[in-house]
Amino acid sequence: MKGTCTVCDASVTLPKDTEESEIISCSDCKSRLVVQKISNGKATLEKAPVVEEDWGQ
Ligand SMILES: [Zn+2]
Repeated sequence: MKGTCTVCDASVTLPKDTEESEIISCSDCKSRLVVQKISNGKATLEKAPVVEEDWGQ
């Protein structure tokens, strides 16, 4: 599965079992990205807010 980093525009490869609202890191700029949406095998990524809270959803 692929997505695009909204910070540096790099193509980010995600594990197949990635789910919506998971947090991943861009391998290029190391930004934390949240998986906003998954459709047709493509992930929409958003920059994750910088909070040290539990994303247990
Ligand atoms: Zn990036």
